[in-house]
Amino acid sequence: MIIDYHLHNHFSCDSESETSDIAKKAIKLGIQEVCITNHVETFDPETGDGLFSYEEATSRFTKVKKEIEETQKNFPNLPIKFGVELEYVKPWMSDMKRFVDAMDFDFMIGSVHAVDGVIISSSELSSELYEKVTEQYSYSKYFENLYKMVEWGSFSAVGHFDICKKGGYKFYGPFNPQKYKNQITDVLELMKKKGIGIELNTRYMHKDCNEIFPHPDILKWCVEIGVEHYTIGSDAHTAEEVGQNFEEALTIAKEAGITSLSTYEKQRPTKHKI
Ligand SMILES: [Zn+2]
Ligand SMILES: [Zn+2]
Repeated sequence: MIIDYHLHNHFSCDSESETSDIAKKAIKLGIQEVCITNHVETFDPETGDGLFSYEEATSRFTKVKKEIEETQKNFPNLPIKFGVELEYVKPWMSDMKRFVDAMDFDFMIGSVHAVDGVIISSSELSSELYEKVTEQYSYSKYFENLYKMVEWGSFSAVGHFDICKKGGYKFYGPFNPQKYKNQITDVLELMKKKGIGIELNTRYMHKDCNEIFPHPDILKWCVEIGVEHYTIGSDAHTAEEVGQNFEEALTIAKEAGITSLSTYEKQRPTKHKI
């Protein structure tokens, strides 16, 4: 079963895609289920700072849910799930818990996009950090934040597990996960303990760092440690990007020993053989 479980539409601050265009593209590619996972945060138009408010997020995601229900009627053979991409910023997390409890999502991605207040998921912005500090400092800090997010734990799967390499490769060269193996496997052990899954994110397989998230070695460690649930997501911000690089990613997954992908209904996972 092929799914796309990381998709942004016009309710995300950085996308204008229509849900029906996403659904049409998915059907064309033979994808059997999708999940719309918009960013929880918005950005201040003047400062560019990330913002999260319980009131804004609940009101916006109530609209997302309604739109998905309406769109679903026109695509009876393609389940369209209601998801979110959360962001770990420590002071936000108690309101974030209230928010996820109130919304009753099918699936929630937990992502870290910032280190020391710098948005490292943006190639341009990340240079602000990477040109000043060593790889050891910035990547260790990133994986520390990831660990704290998993400790918080109110989500289904970790998004783009090693996104630090996206902008980092320009400053530090290719990412070698072996250097951070202890830190990374600590995160994976905690994910296994908490039943948190991991996504294969295909967005940057042929741009920027030219690699899948996470690195194939990390996928092998997931299998060794016994992480139970895997999803695949294109992280599409336009309908054209839906399902990008999936064939190649599934080959990497199988080579790492992954045998199933999971779909989610009200946060309950079901495994499907690949
Ligand atoms: Zn993200
Ligand atoms: Zn995303």
